Amino acid sequence: MTAVQPSNVRCACCGEHSSQALPPASSEFGACDLDHRPPETMRSTMESWLQECLHCGYVAADLGQAGESDRRLVKTDRYQVLRHGPYVSRLSGRFLLRAVLDSLGGHRERAFANAICAAWDADDRDLREAARSLRRRAASYLKGHDENSVELKLRLLDVHRRASDWKSADLMARHLAGQGLDTQMSAILAFQVRRIHAKDEAAYTVAHALSGDLGAEHRLRILR
Ligand SMILES: [Zn+2]
Repeated sequence: MTAVQPSNVRCACCGEHSSQALPPASSEFGACDLDHRPPETMRSTMESWLQECLHCGYVAADLGQAGESDRRLVKTDRYQVLRHGPYVSRLSGRFLLRAVLDSLGGHRERAFANAICAAWDADDRDLREAARSLRRRAASYLKGHDENSVELKLRLLDVHRRASDWKSADLMARHLAGQGLDTQMSAILAFQVRRIHAKDEAAYTVAHALSGDLGAEHRLRILR
């Protein structure tokens, strides 16, 4: 992984300059989690996935770029109040602010994805209840929309399970069972159904799902 290099960036919303980390040229080794969290080394670079303007509070992958919607929303009182949280961490707050801009700008899938990033940060801090709550918030961005792709629904299924929202997980699993899934997706769904029945909210990778091997961490938990 290349070291994160700071760069002087001009905010596209307020015009102020600030020093921001540029995304590192990281690699991915191994399988991603069922909620699409990437493996290392990308997994450990979340701090550099979004930039935040300390002047106006705008958050984006590149502060130098902003659509009309973002420019308008950042100036609103509602957004300025949200800047101050409370959040479990500054990093979590950054992802949630981006999710708000995405959602209000009509980009529900991006809002969902960014709220999941906030949950990953809570996972890393071992804040389990906060992580569950953030996953429920992520899922809420997709609520009421049935046109989502099968891939997105499979990701949402994992988010429901990891939020301990067993009712929503069960409903989504039943819905997916009636969809035309390919072999790999069917194997992932079967794995999820078993974990849902076991009321297991642990993190698993795609490799776990396809091999049926729950991994060393799960075996240790059962032995305890
Ligand atoms: Zn700004």
